[in-house]
Amino acid sequence: MNALSIDVEDYFQVHAFEKVIRRADWDKYAPRVVQNTRRVLSILSDCDTRATFFILGWIAERFPALVQEIVSAGHEIATHGYAHELIYRQTPAEFEADLEKSLSAIQRAVSVPVWGFRAPAFSITKQSLWALDILKKNGLRYDSSIFPLAAHDRYGIPDAQRFAHRTEVGLWEFPVSTLRLARWNLPVAGGGYFRLYPAWLTRFAIRRINAGGNPAVVYLHPWEFDPEQPRVENASALSKFRHYVNLDRTESRLRRLLKEFRFAPLREVFAPQLNTDNGGRD
Ligand SMILES: [Zn+2]
Repeated sequence: MNALSIDVEDYFQVHAFEKVIRRADWDKYAPRVVQNTRRVLSILSDCDTRATFFILGWIAERFPALVQEIVSAGHEIATHGYAHELIYRQTPAEFEADLEKSLSAIQRAVSVPVWGFRAPAFSITKQSLWALDILKKNGLRYDSSIFPLAAHDRYGIPDAQRFAHRTEVGLWEFPVSTLRLARWNLPVAGGGYFRLYPAWLTRFAIRRINAGGNPAVVYLHPWEFDPEQPRVENASALSKFRHYVNLDRTESRLRRLLKEFRFAPLREVFAPQLNTDNGGRD
């Protein structure tokens, strides 16, 4: 069993565009997150698969009915923070305020326990590991934000563990999957990498991870299922490449993946780990 996760945010909120789209202007953009998330929900329903939805508080606040739809379909609700701010750019107090705001936005929409957190752009790095303590303090049970990766400008801890482990503060960490090649961790299990690399590479990685006795952790975003989204023309060439490459293939690739492998929400896949926290009582 592998873990599938969807980071629920809109196309204009990604860090690739932060230099050209100000946070204060987000409300001026016509939202596409509702229709795109519904597209994801319908693919998952077709393939009889449930996932974890890490929802941005900003989205939950504006679209509580969408959060309710996700819950009604049996998926796990988790948080992606409120304003999609990189954690290592925040002070601990700012991060905690953002986290609390996201949790209360989700809780206003639905009354389900929230156990999981994924940082915007995997921004728990060596300089922001203090965030784990704040997550624990605020009742979160797991984090899925540390990318065991060396070569990226925005995220990654090169020597981080690749699989589920308990962090020093006692919070569980479930990293997104990488393929180990020689001394390198290659990201193949989500986002732009999932769209860029040939589909067989992702399947090969998942088979290899599973053969080692571990679940894979795959992540995607609703905007990745939307080839018709408006183009942000004044972004850098690299940002545009990362954001737009193969958007028209996400859906077919995911459908094929869901046929070949079994997926479930993180909370279920990692129940053996999470249940050790309370002696298996829930
Ligand atoms: Zn995000």
